Amino acid sequence: MYLKIEFDLFTKIVSLHPKKNIMAGNITFTMIKPDGVEANNIGPILAKINQSGFKIVAMKYMKLSAETAGKFYEVHKERPFYGELVSYMSGGPIVAAILQKDNAVAEYRTLIGATDPSKADEGTIRKLFAKSIAANAVHGSDSDENANIESNFFFSQIERF
Ligand code: UDP
Ligand code: MG
Repeated sequence: MYLKIEFDLFTKIVSLHPKKNIMAGNITFTMIKPDGVEANNIGPILAKINQSGFKIVAMKYMKLSAETAGKFYEVHKERPFYGELVSYMSGGPIVAAILQKDNAVAEYRTLIGATDPSKADEGTIRKLFAKSIAANAVHGSDSDENANIESNFFFSQIERF
C-alpha cells in the first residue's frame, strides 16, 4: 500500500520532469561506424534517423582508441570476432549519438536492420549502407539498460539536452 503510493508519487514526479523521456528510458545509443563515416554516409544516415522520428539529444565526432573500443565491446570479449571488431572500430573516426523517441531501443533496431546486412530488410540503414557483417554502418543498443550504460560511457550530463 505504502509502496504503491510511493511508486505513484515517483511516477508523478518523473512525468513532470523536463527530461521525462530520458528518464522513462525512451533513448537509445548509436554510432555511425568507421565504414559509414569513410563512405560519406554521415549525412544520409542522420537524415534517415530524423525522418524516422528520432530526435538527436547528444552527438560527437571522434576516433576511439583500441582501449576504448575494447571497453565498449567488452560483452563480446569471448566471441571469435572480438579482436577484429576492436581494431576495426578504432581504425577510423565514428559519430556517437543519443537518440530519443518512444520505444527508442526497439524502434531503432527495426530501423537499422539485422547485424548481417545480407539478412537486413529492404530500406533499413544496414541494408542501404553496410558493407559487411563487421563493417555494418551503425551500432544500436539492444536494451534500455544498455542504452543508458552506453550513453553514459560516451556523454556527460552537460553534453545531452
Ligand atoms: N560482428 C562481427 N561478426 C559477427 C557478429 C558481429 O564482426 O559474426 C560485429 C558487428 O560489427 C556487430 C558487432 O560485432 O555490429 C556487435 O555484434 P552484435 O551481435 O551485438 O550485433 P549488433 O547488436 O550490432 O546487431
Ligand atoms: Mg549488439
